[in-house]
Amino acid sequence: MSEGDGGEPSVAEPPGETGAGPAAVSSGARDGGAPADGGARMRGPRRAAAVAAAVLFAGVAAVLGLTTPWNPLPGHVPGGHVRADPSLDFSPHEIARANAFDGAVNPPAYSGLIVGLVVILVLGFTPLGSRFIGWTTARVRRRPLRVAVAAVALTTLLRVIGLPFDIWGESVLRDYGLSTQSWPAWAVDQLKSLGVTWVIYTIALLLLYAVVRRFPRYWWTGAAAGGFVLVVAVSFIYPVVVEPVFNNFHSLPAGQLRTDLLTMAKRDGVPVKDVLVADASRRTTSLNAYVSGFGSTRRIVLYDTLLKSPRPQIESIVGHELGHAKRNDVLWGTLVGGLGVAGGLCLLYLLTTSPRLLRRAGVDPDVPAARGARSTGPADPRTIALVLALVAAGTQVAAPVQNLVSRRIEARADAHALDLTRDPSTFTAMQHELSVRNINDLHPNWVEYLLWMTHPSGPDRIAMARDWSRMHHVTVPPPLQH
Ligand SMILES: [Zn+2]
Repeated sequence: MSEGDGGEPSVAEPPGETGAGPAAVSSGARDGGAPADGGARMRGPRRAAAVAAAVLFAGVAAVLGLTTPWNPLPGHVPGGHVRADPSLDFSPHEIARANAFDGAVNPPAYSGLIVGLVVILVLGFTPLGSRFIGWTTARVRRRPLRVAVAAVALTTLLRVIGLPFDIWGESVLRDYGLSTQSWPAWAVDQLKSLGVTWVIYTIALLLLYAVVRRFPRYWWTGAAAGGFVLVVAVSFIYPVVVEPVFNNFHSLPAGQLRTDLLTMAKRDGVPVKDVLVADASRRTTSLNAYVSGFGSTRRIVLYDTLLKSPRPQIESIVGHELGHAKRNDVLWGTLVGGLGVAGGLCLLYLLTTSPRLLRRAGVDPDVPAARGARSTGPADPRTIALVLALVAAGTQVAAPVQNLVSRRIEARADAHALDLTRDPSTFTAMQHELSVRNINDLHPNWVEYLLWMTHPSGPDRIAMARDWSRMHHVTVPPPLQH
């Protein structure tokens, strides 16, 4: 093998590989010599990957630090900011119901999260995961097929383990009248979402293991670039490829509401050709609207459940969505997410080329020394459990940061809706309605903010509307409870 620094050692796809032996073949004979040699060969690329990861994560931190609206309502608020107080606007009954619902949905949510994490971490950081993959792919000869089978088997296993908690959570939604679905329809949704997971994970892992195998020392460069492109591509096609799997969409029919909304968008300087309605009522009674996609796939979508609300309240919601559209929040979030994923893939390289971690995961850390050798080390498809465990850990670490930034962006969109409609009373009434109908947590604790809260709570949003009113000398919405 060449010791030259410039090029990749050529580990060409050996024709014999399709007939690779069973995954359990031992290659203990090289255990002694390889790490020292491999260690020296890997030192340069590992150092470069570490620098790349640091630069990418620093870039993410800098972009988030500079572009997040840390103060979504800039300027002086006469008399200072008011504190969120649910008792001002929510009846004791509404507060009690929200607390009871919170107490009922939290056990399945937390236990599902914890069990799911524990299972994937145990699979990834012990030989159990590689054994599971070895077992499921024992009869599969072709390499790419082994990657695909491993991806499907592992994601299915995790889904099956999470199922009891999802059934529990869904039954709580049913008890509180939030779900309108029959159990068979719910089961079909679960299957569809598993199918989407299979497609995304299989494509991502096939691409990853193809570069890992082709460029054992520098795959992080291709993986980081590919990961970035994949994140952007998925976000772009999501509204036209994934969303229709779950919902039917139609244009908001011609009429006063449509005219008003398009006029408002025009006044706001946001080019909106159409407003879509999703048939959300097939599974929920909750109210919502969202913006997804960017460029030619960007769309503003209203839940059909929302259409029975008074027109000014719908305008208030669409004003919020226009705030996202005007600031390109989806595109921006996608680019930052892509950078984070690129950094994560450099980190993944550092971790999966660690012989200690590979041994812990039950995979032979040797880099193949000879042409035609069975793929070992990070190129071994049995490392997929370790990869998924690292992805799960990374996602969990990133979630509180994502939620923190998301809450500020949502508050900025609220401020935009208030600027546009100049109607804080309707905004307050709408936020009250959203919180009551969706049975939102009215005073989340810090763990709930950290783990789940992508939006400020209803009382937070109403408090900001009162701040906005005093800033703009508009009548402050009186408490809804007298
Ligand atoms: Zn929003």
